[in-house]
Amino acid sequence: MKFISDYIFKYYDLPARFFIKPWKDFYAKQAVKLYVGALEAGDRADFRELETLSYKRARRLLEYAGRNVPHWRSYKNAAWQSLPIISKSDYKADPESFLSRDPYFSSHRKSFNTSGSTGSPLNYFYEHYRYEIHHGGALLHALRNLKAPIEDRAVLTTFRAAFSGSFALFGVRYEDLDFVDMLPAQGILGSEKMRFSNFTTNLLMMDEEKRPILIMRPSQAFLLAHWTVANEIKLRLPFILLVGENLSRDQRKFIENTFDCQVRMIYSSRELSVMGYECPANLGFIHLLPESYFMEILDNGDLAVTSFVNLTMPFIRYRIGDKAEVKTATGKCPCGVWRPLIKILGRDNHLIKLAGKSISYSALEAYLYNNRADKIKQMQCVQEAPDSFRVRLCRSASFNEADEQNMLAVFKNALGSTIKVRFEYLDFIEPGESGKFITFRSLI
Ligand SMILES: [Zn+2]
Repeated sequence: MKFISDYIFKYYDLPARFFIKPWKDFYAKQAVKLYVGALEAGDRADFRELETLSYKRARRLLEYAGRNVPHWRSYKNAAWQSLPIISKSDYKADPESFLSRDPYFSSHRKSFNTSGSTGSPLNYFYEHYRYEIHHGGALLHALRNLKAPIEDRAVLTTFRAAFSGSFALFGVRYEDLDFVDMLPAQGILGSEKMRFSNFTTNLLMMDEEKRPILIMRPSQAFLLAHWTVANEIKLRLPFILLVGENLSRDQRKFIENTFDCQVRMIYSSRELSVMGYECPANLGFIHLLPESYFMEILDNGDLAVTSFVNLTMPFIRYRIGDKAEVKTATGKCPCGVWRPLIKILGRDNHLIKLAGKSISYSALEAYLYNNRADKIKQMQCVQEAPDSFRVRLCRSASFNEADEQNMLAVFKNALGSTIKVRFEYLDFIEPGESGKFITFRSLI
């Protein structure tokens, strides 16, 4: 154990200068290899050891921010629990005050927008190389631990990732795949003119063992599965990694059966990159990477993240907008790692507001899909009043009157018999501005 912690500490103590090297060259690939090696060492470390390291790094980041970032100047030596929780709106109100004044990083600064799934997009900055090394490394580590068949395969995202360079790490560069041009900037579901036929044709033309691992949003994978079933096309895929939205058990089963492959998830956001991956032995639960993120679950269930992969605009106690709960650790996980395990309970804007209490829509949604994943292509729930809902549905041919009655019963069982639900049938439901599909909206 001594050796492992030595190794981890040695890696994470490397000077920042180590990361400032031209990207996409041999050196960068070595840096990623080293990073993956350190994450693998973290897999074997006791989670208490990882958590100690995590807290030490959080304190060190706070010291750095206290010296270089205006917002954090007065908190340099503050007790951790007394630090304010920062929200997206704080960054938006005064982004300058969260930027590091450290001249060392200013020439390697990149600007990006968040997807805007929790409101209008946030413009944020990150330090190019360190960030991309983490992004590529953590993805590769996740794919390995999820037993994805990655050898000599491309990894293809169906939406324009902010960090496109990272996906060049797995053999074929995704820019080299000639059908990438068919994917518009916001992904294959960016508009009503879906490109499923082109996309599928190109995948079918490839040898099965050459087909790429797809990184998609759950709503995209689900719709693609429906499309291939409706068109009687059998497309076998090696592996699908889902990111960015919720997925019910029945939706996952439907996607897995359709493409004859495993479907797994990672926990990631644009501004923070890959924070964890699904435990293969506890589906639905996420293994964390404490060596790169200090994660806190606050009393109200909010997840607050402190990220060590961005010194340009440090995220300290950042409320990401998800609620989570810890799964009690009892030593080594059956999947082989000692990493902490949490369950993401959904976004805090996914709450159904009833008189006097709130209920997460995610749980209700799982029941709505129950044994019906093959009948629903898209579903969006809108709460119009405390006791009134509109369900917007894009259905497949097998959806019938009984399904509507059953879904109505799900609402009444969960929310009370006086709840009113109106069903609206559509051909296609546009995703949100960011390309992410909005499953629940509240108008109250
Ligand atoms: Zn596990």
